[in-house]
Amino acid sequence: MPELPEVETIRRGLENIVGKKITNIFRSEKKLRLNSSLDFQALKGAKISKISRRARYLIINFSDGLSLIIHLGMSGRITLEREFKRLKHDHFACEFNDETCLVFNDPRRFGFVDLIKTKNLSKHKMLTKLGPEPLEKEFDFADFSKKLSRKKTNIKTTIMDNQVVVGVGNIYANESLFDSGISPLRKADSLTKNEIEKLISSIKKIIKAAIKSGGSSISDYVDSQGNFGHFQDGFRTYGRSGEKCLQCKNPIQRISQSGRSSFFCNQCQK
Ligand SMILES: [Zn+2]
Repeated sequence: MPELPEVETIRRGLENIVGKKITNIFRSEKKLRLNSSLDFQALKGAKISKISRRARYLIINFSDGLSLIIHLGMSGRITLEREFKRLKHDHFACEFNDETCLVFNDPRRFGFVDLIKTKNLSKHKMLTKLGPEPLEKEFDFADFSKKLSRKKTNIKTTIMDNQVVVGVGNIYANESLFDSGISPLRKADSLTKNEIEKLISSIKKIIKAAIKSGGSSISDYVDSQGNFGHFQDGFRTYGRSGEKCLQCKNPIQRISQSGRSSFFCNQCQK
């Protein structure tokens, strides 16, 4: 599933479509996770003014006050093509005035494309309850420690909660906890001041490194140009159960927490 670093990589790869004008819109008849709030045909003639992102949602703003929210779900891909070929599982496409096009392909259809008025973006039901972005200054000690003190769950499940902080998916939660030396089994409200500060800096460091590597390609993720990410080459715990810890050579453990796999070293992480 594409997480924040992968969606951010896609966003950066799409910055060159700013200024393009839409000449044609395609939407398949297949159902996606959400129906669009407005008719896509309203985009005909609209000019792209900005490409942004909130958590794992890609947002395309248009100069006439409309915005597209795109979620890739489990298997969605957004690519820039030289022409629209209408391949199987292509569910949405915009053709531009320079004859290139943006295509959303999603075999499993857990993703969606929604057109809304830009002024209503923050009220969109998928965006309204989201916590701070991990790389923004709003994700800080005051906010994070207050949220942790109210949680009875383990720290791994807590940092994956989008209302606490967005974008820390399973891979990045495992890697951040290893980086900060904190066991995924710890209760969220048991972390000391130093541990909370270390965890904030590890989350920021891991997410930044993942974006720099173009994200992680562990299933079928590719960026908008069809390239794979490389962060998976640097995993220190994720997917390494039974292999030696890179710091102490103790075998990496695998357990399940809230239905997701946690990988950790019980010597380096306390
Ligand atoms: Zn270790």
